[in-house]
Amino acid sequence: MPLYIVLLGPPGAGKGTQAQRIAQAMNIPHISSGDIFRENIKNKTDLGVQANRVIVKGELVPDDLTIAMIKDRLSKADCQPGALLDGFPRTPFQAEALAKILTEFRGKVNLVPYINVPEQLLIERLTGRWTCRAQGHVFHEKFNPPRQAGRCDIDGSELYQRDDDKVETVTKRIKVYLQQTLPLIEYYQRMGVLVNIDGSQEIDQVTANIMTAIEKVNL
Ligand code: ADP
Ligand code: AMP
Repeated sequence: MPLYIVLLGPPGAGKGTQAQRIAQAMNIPHISSGDIFRENIKNKTDLGVQANRVIVKGELVPDDLTIAMIKDRLSKADCQPGALLDGFPRTPFQAEALAKILTEFRGKVNLVPYINVPEQLLIERLTGRWTCRAQGHVFHEKFNPPRQAGRCDIDGSELYQRDDDKVETVTKRIKVYLQQTLPLIEYYQRMGVLVNIDGSQEIDQVTANIMTAIEKVNL
């Protein structure tokens, strides 16, 4: 049976940071909807042009575009053992769509670590975040600095600050999260797959807590 994990939490909770580690440990692909949009924006595809109009405002890309993009990614051969989703689903409609897609692959959402962090800390994390140009690895100028300023430790590429990590856009993204994504906590709680993770702890501790939750999953 494939293993599907959905990382849930507000922007800046540490989903990308944890996803990289967990995906590697579990040997499943890390699928970040935000990274796929940014790749499309960089390559100036039709999807990228459409997505960019809303991403710069801190709003969500329409469900139909997002769902089609993720369905396409999940149908790739490397997802046969499962996948770790980061940033998707973000609306109840996307969550329903995901359930249908996974049924087609004879799977379901097995675990939803909900990484929670107080709002003030989120703003500090996002405004100090540095992202790698090549593969989206993330660092923080204070909490997780790269060995060499401006260079990714993992692949040596340039680090940049995302346009939507400006304080005005961050505030908007948190608001959008509270309005549109928060209902998913109850949705996955009802399905019995939600596990609360305190995301204000050290990065290694958060990883350890998520790994403990994964070990308890019965496939
Ligand atoms: P998300 O993918 O949920 O938006 P990220 O993983 O990109 O969040 O993390 C946001 C920022 O916070 C990054 O700069 C990252 O280095 C930093 N960060 C992530 N987890 C922690 C943590 N547990 N403690 C301190 N800083 C963290
Ligand atoms: P992220 O990299 O997860 O912070 O996402 C960056 C931006 O991409 C978000 O603010 C949204 O505009 C867009 N985005 C990412 N994932 C989704 C999604 N599942 N649904 C709609 N928009 C998304």
